[in-house]
Amino acid sequence: MDLNEIDKNHLWHPLTQHKLYPEHIPIKSAKGVFIEDFNGNKYIDGIASWYTCMYGHCNDYIINKVFQQMKQLDHVVFTGFTHEPATNLAKALINILPKNQQKLFFSDNGSTSVDIAMKMAFQFHFNNKEQRKKIIAFEDSFHGDTFGAMSVSGLSIYNGPFEKFFIDVERIPVPTQLNIEDLKNKITSLTKNNDVAAFIYEPLVQGAAGMIMHEAEHLNQLLKIFKDNKIITIADEVMTGFGKTGKNFASEHMTNLPDIICLSKSLTGGLVPMAITSCSEHIYDAFLSTKMEKGFFHGHTYSANPTACTAALASIELLNSNEIQNNIKMIIDSHKEFNSKIKYHVKVKSTRQQGIIFALDLNVEMKRYGELRYKLFNFYMQKGVYLRPLGNTVYILAPFVISKNQLQKIYSAIEESFELF
Ligand SMILES: *Cc1c(COP(=O)(O)O)cnc(C)c1O
Repeated sequence: MDLNEIDKNHLWHPLTQHKLYPEHIPIKSAKGVFIEDFNGNKYIDGIASWYTCMYGHCNDYIINKVFQQMKQLDHVVFTGFTHEPATNLAKALINILPKNQQKLFFSDNGSTSVDIAMKMAFQFHFNNKEQRKKIIAFEDSFHGDTFGAMSVSGLSIYNGPFEKFFIDVERIPVPTQLNIEDLKNKITSLTKNNDVAAFIYEPLVQGAAGMIMHEAEHLNQLLKIFKDNKIITIADEVMTGFGKTGKNFASEHMTNLPDIICLSKSLTGGLVPMAITSCSEHIYDAFLSTKMEKGFFHGHTYSANPTACTAALASIELLNSNEIQNNIKMIIDSHKEFNSKIKYHVKVKSTRQQGIIFALDLNVEMKRYGELRYKLFNFYMQKGVYLRPLGNTVYILAPFVISKNQLQKIYSAIEESFELF
């Protein structure tokens, strides 16, 4: 049986209506910025495989470190035991996280890092004998697909079957120059009853919504109100974390720092899954007690897996390197140049950029999974570029190791695609 046949017989892909879209492109290998299919076609990974492989696919530096680690300690229970891969990672990560972050809690993916953050927030208030059951979240946010994360995601257009089970969420629009004063009033009145446990947000860029961006200055004003009302602020940096917004973390663009931060995606450079929920000392302290039940009784089997910790540490070492930092600057400048070239094109409705994240809206009406979206996708693939348009939004979030020429290839493919409609 060939690969396609076995796939059709046995595999159920994420976010897929198999009746309408039964075909999946078999991928054989990946190296650097390229993914390669079984016919020898290479595609530039313009979205770093959902923002994971930021240091390039199959990065030799990361792989070698992980290989050495695997020979020494594969996995051990993280309740009752600790190990160097976790402590070494902790030192390196705390060193680059916003300065109020102090404790790290491990899990396996972005959604669980969000669920953990929410449970921390609810129990923080519970332990302090306060009844706070509501969460405030942005409209069109995406925080993951587990029950808690799905509940706070505004974007979940296909979550109909589960909506009855959701926790209590109040939605607010992202701040703009126009709505900022109204929004501040709205938040002040939402917080009046002292029943809001937390505010969860994707700082500066809402990824899955289509790389929708808002100003740091505005978000900072909202964070101040939440802080003043003892509402725990949870920055979901699963997408924005590790250098993508021009700083190591998007939260560094604001003076009001989050109490809790969710990390995953490029944490391990795309080699293995892992997530971390970090928090400030004052969150952690609310769980310290001689009473057992005040502790945080949440745990995952693969918590702090030593090979994943090693991949994460190697990734942070790369992020800190001059080579990567210089390339981040090159990508930011390069996007700016591309932007000034295309922003007034008749087929372009609007453009936006935050760090190495660049997005443009095409001047055409389109459903999120409309026909033109697939036409664009196929066109880019033919051009040797892997991009995943979100409705009429085309965005670039390429690995940090991409070269100027390779970026140019992505830009050309996008410009040529303007002729498709
Ligand atoms: C991808 C993503 C998640 C979910 O992460 P998974 O690892 O897919 O569960 C959560 N929040 C944000 C902002 C994301 O981009």
